[in-house]
Amino acid sequence: MRNTLLPTNSNAPVNRRHSPRCQPRRRAANHTVALALIGLLSLGATAATVTTNELLPGTPYATPWFIHDSGQPGPTVMIVGGVHGNEPAGAAAAESIRHWPLSAGKLVVIPRANVPGLAANARRLPGVATNQADLNRNYPRAGQPEETRGELAAAIWQVARQHQPAWVLDLHEGFDFHQLNSKSVGSTVIAARDDRSRAAGQLMVDAVNAGIADPQLKFTLVHQPIDGSLARAAVEHLNVPGFTLETTTKNQPLAKRVAQHETMVRALLGHLNMVDDAALVAAPPARPLVIPDTKIRIALYRGPGAGGTGPSNLLARLNRPPETGIVEVSPAEVAGGVLTNFNVVIFPGGSASKQAGAIGEAGREEVRQFVARGGGYIGICAGAYLATAGYPWSLKIINAKTISPLWRRGVGPVQMELSESGSSVFAARDGQFSVRYANGPIVEPAGVADLPAYTTLAWFRSELALNDTPAGIMVNSPAIFAGDYQGGRVVCVSPHPESTAGLEDMIPEAVNWVASRHAPFTKPTIKTAE
Ligand SMILES: [Zn+2]
Repeated sequence: MRNTLLPTNSNAPVNRRHSPRCQPRRRAANHTVALALIGLLSLGATAATVTTNELLPGTPYATPWFIHDSGQPGPTVMIVGGVHGNEPAGAAAAESIRHWPLSAGKLVVIPRANVPGLAANARRLPGVATNQADLNRNYPRAGQPEETRGELAAAIWQVARQHQPAWVLDLHEGFDFHQLNSKSVGSTVIAARDDRSRAAGQLMVDAVNAGIADPQLKFTLVHQPIDGSLARAAVEHLNVPGFTLETTTKNQPLAKRVAQHETMVRALLGHLNMVDDAALVAAPPARPLVIPDTKIRIALYRGPGAGGTGPSNLLARLNRPPETGIVEVSPAEVAGGVLTNFNVVIFPGGSASKQAGAIGEAGREEVRQFVARGGGYIGICAGAYLATAGYPWSLKIINAKTISPLWRRGVGPVQMELSESGSSVFAARDGQFSVRYANGPIVEPAGVADLPAYTTLAWFRSELALNDTPAGIMVNSPAIFAGDYQGGRVVCVSPHPESTAGLEDMIPEAVNWVASRHAPFTKPTIKTAE
């Protein structure tokens, strides 16, 4: 079915200034102040504003987008990243670029266009019919009526129509260097054939090539954006220059590819007098979104309610490229949608109610949506409490609740034993073994109607019952329990194997299991790339 450009409820962008869901309030406010000062110093006029919006809210494609208006006259440039979910450099670069101080004009930025694809590391839109699954073939075609295919392309095209950009940049990646392998468009700038597009394209090529020594790895200018792509639609239907910028994933770390995208965009924006290097250098650097360049990308919650030695042990144990990479994420980043870049999230030990309060209801909903779309959740001790269904602040992503409100059972070693199900998730560990315990949850079924029953992966075989906590309820209760939450897997670990000598591999084993839901998506289905 073809969507026309008639506005509908489902694809109308929602305008919300400084929305806490899509952008941390504090960062937005500080940023606006800094931009205003730069504006006053240099040009003495209207303050800059950053407006946070959401595309297709309430759908699996929901994604934040931003209008960064310098308050000064100048061109509007539209920048899109993350159209193909297995091309992360464009998404990370766009996320960085939207924070750049502007001296003129306006940026309209959609950093993560294909949220489900990014979560699955898949080029295409997961679960969409083949002929509509490549988002970058769904835009209005050359010489055809201005029609898009699918609701996501319709919504992105509506943003373009609404803001009438003078330039459109779509940030992509190819699998190989175009000069060495003509089957890939890696390390190219793809531009239309007109003089203005060629000149601007060459400007970006020259800027990025200044940092590349090997002649065979240098960028080249090629023609022209493929029909159905956003860049081509900009040329054909908006009558403005549209470019597809392509870095190369092969043998190049993500940080290098992100920097190459930034260099190209900076060259064009500098040429348009929208940024000046002095202001870029003087601006406080926005924290770059550093996504691990690994098969399984893990986000570890760090913030109020996270504590103990667990997090540092997890960082050391799970930083194993090329298989697993792990980075810490803040409560504001969780609430701002950062999880769409990851396969697995871990909430460590500490205080569950503090973790829940820090990420807020917006963050809790982000975590639920992340798991619902196929992300993996691992909660350790506090993180296990957080996942349960029994508290007003809990995530309710596993059908378990604590048996007693009294939780100070004590800290020390207890005996644990894998169940038969647990033996298929974890490496074989026969009989009972000792694990460090620190007031973790003792649970029973919660009986929530729309959640599947949990499966016990390991049992407690001894107990601690200090501080007048009830005795007898811990022995033979679940120590590790797991369940599905819509498309994703949840594993709750009451004790602390990550801080028990000899058991440090149990959490990595659980990571592999919750991430295996992504197995069908880890390889691109086709080998072309643009
Ligand atoms: Zn692409």
